[in-house]
Amino acid sequence: MSLPLTQLPGVSTRIAELFARLGILTVDDLLFHLPLRYEDRTQIKPLATVKVGQTVLIEGTIQASEVKQGKRRSLVCTLSDGSSTIILRFFHFYPAQQHQLQAGAKLRCFGEIRQGYSGLELVHPQYERINYSPVHNPLADHLTPIYPSNAHLNQSVFYTLIEQILTTQDIVDYIPIQIQHQFKLLPLTTALQLLHQPPPTVALAALQSSTHPARRRLAFEELLAHHLSLYTLRAQAYHRQAPSLNNRGQLGQQLLAQLPFQLTAAQQKVYAEITTDLRATHPMQRLVQGDVGSGKTIVAALSALQAIESGYQVAVMAPTELLSEQHMRTFSQWLQPFAIEIVWLTGSLTKKKRDQALANLASGQAALAIGTHALFQKEVEFARLGLVIIDEQHRFGVHQRLALRNKGSSSGYYPHQLIMTATPIPRTLAMTAYADLDTSIIDELPPGRTPVNTAVIPNTRREEVIERIRYACQQEDRQAYWVCTLIEESEVLQYQAAKDTAEQLHQALPQLRIGIIHGRMKAKEKEKVMAQFQGGQIDLLVATTVIEVGVDVPNASLMIIENAERLGLAQLHQLRGRVGRGVLPSYCVLLYQLPLSDIAKSRLATIRDTHDGFAIAQKDLEIRGPGEVLGTRQTGTMNLRIADLQRDQDLLSDIIHAAKMLFNEYPEHCQHLIQRWVKEGLHYGEV
Ligand code: ADP
Ligand code: MG
Repeated sequence: MSLPLTQLPGVSTRIAELFARLGILTVDDLLFHLPLRYEDRTQIKPLATVKVGQTVLIEGTIQASEVKQGKRRSLVCTLSDGSSTIILRFFHFYPAQQHQLQAGAKLRCFGEIRQGYSGLELVHPQYERINYSPVHNPLADHLTPIYPSNAHLNQSVFYTLIEQILTTQDIVDYIPIQIQHQFKLLPLTTALQLLHQPPPTVALAALQSSTHPARRRLAFEELLAHHLSLYTLRAQAYHRQAPSLNNRGQLGQQLLAQLPFQLTAAQQKVYAEITTDLRATHPMQRLVQGDVGSGKTIVAALSALQAIESGYQVAVMAPTELLSEQHMRTFSQWLQPFAIEIVWLTGSLTKKKRDQALANLASGQAALAIGTHALFQKEVEFARLGLVIIDEQHRFGVHQRLALRNKGSSSGYYPHQLIMTATPIPRTLAMTAYADLDTSIIDELPPGRTPVNTAVIPNTRREEVIERIRYACQQEDRQAYWVCTLIEESEVLQYQAAKDTAEQLHQALPQLRIGIIHGRMKAKEKEKVMAQFQGGQIDLLVATTVIEVGVDVPNASLMIIENAERLGLAQLHQLRGRVGRGVLPSYCVLLYQLPLSDIAKSRLATIRDTHDGFAIAQKDLEIRGPGEVLGTRQTGTMNLRIADLQRDQDLLSDIIHAAKMLFNEYPEHCQHLIQRWVKEGLHYGEV
């Protein structure tokens, strides 16, 4: 079934090309190309029974036919079937057509009933001339599907080919009967038959609205296939060799002893899970989820030390330069007593420094590399890479992760992988989207944190907000962020907005030391500004959303987010997580532009009233859909054709079960399913 379309009789390369434009390359692709909607041409409706808005098939004889001048010239025919009459109206018509549509002509018409001036009308109906013998004009015996198509392929091509596939090809159901029964799934051919050629009695509304068992069966199969592809990836990892990082954990003990705080129970639990994984001889693939501020960094540092103690190198990757700088500072400070050489690798290093860094990694002299995706690049070679830590992973796609994993493979080993994310993802969704990973959750914040007091305020009250900043910075000796948001991705515009805002704030608050940070600054400049802010030499930091992830300045207790209505909930939650990192009360002001839509209002209210990242993620999922919530991961790996993670969420827990059964009992079916549904899945095997 993964045969190219040209294998079907009647499909020329030209037609195959037209199908290719719709993304239909194989027989399978065509079979799973589902109708958008259906038309009922199975029965002829008596005119006396039709109603406005119905799309119907009718038959009758033309009683009268004339061209009316009116506002727009039109050909108007009165059609009668004995039970009633209806008007057929044509604004465009050829003389030949006019000739055809004379009084006395018998027609079968299909169209939507509308209300005209003087009764019911069909405007430009599809029609054919008939003689009343049913032998010559048989009715359709199933509903007529309308397929998504383009201007070049008309519907009849679909009908013919799909009919051909359904009747002559062997459609294999890769979900075994036993599993079909257990999860109440229709057999594949039944589902396809129903969708492509539904009987007139079918519940049409359900069939079109995706709640029909036939559609659900296909959605199930598609999600199952995606799940299996990730699951396979994970199973492969168990057969790979990784260095067993088995040691007494002395470095970690030493670091813990010198910290000004104790790990929370949740941090300890996750650290223990990681330690166990690292001792194994196959690569760890663990996702650590933890809300903003839950203290993921120290867990990462402890894990790094376990690898280093065994003589292996560690790569820590962050999604932004800013964050990588901060990790550089934090790790340098924590690891200082151990005399460990750390290199920093980002896109903005000078050639000389970069060469030096590369040499230190290749020789093994540097035990720890911290950087951005610059760590992925080909020239980066490690002597003994044992552990890869990826922070805030929602920004990275699965393929990037695989690329980094292969960095260690030259030594015959695959490095362990630790992935940390602050974007909490609802459980079943996480299990589907991250089926290749084991998950740990840091479900507790360090003690003494108070929730950030959040206010939603219109931009018209800006002055008050500015006064609030003055008070916090001058009277209370605290620091503040002002975040400028723009919808445009353009860094130039973002930069301009931040600059303008900083200027205005400077006018309004001349006594404050105001700094600015944005994506166009050189790494060095950003680093300097952040160091100043951290050191308390800047009171108010005006920033673009570059500070979204990870930045940690405990004395900053006030954040203003301008045009908050433009940002996603998860992003707002992340931003807000920059304050409330110390023990003192902190505040977040969501400034919005009037007028505000109802949806926007309820979204901002969600942020104001909720501090639990998981609850916010669930809301975000409802409002924006999983594509946004999962970020690159979803767009990169799950190109769903029929299923919808949002709509079909309730299938996920069954899918997780079914996947386990298939994987253990029908391994060869798994490969077929993956091949059928996951185009990218094919090269998972090679990495
Ligand atoms: P995130 O999980 O958002 O990355 P961080 O690792 O940046 O959070 O930690 C946030 C802050 O909390 C840091 O200043 C960190 O030093 C501090 N921290 C981490 N763990 C604890 C703890 N167990 N007790 C007190 N403070 C902690
Ligand atoms: Mg972090």
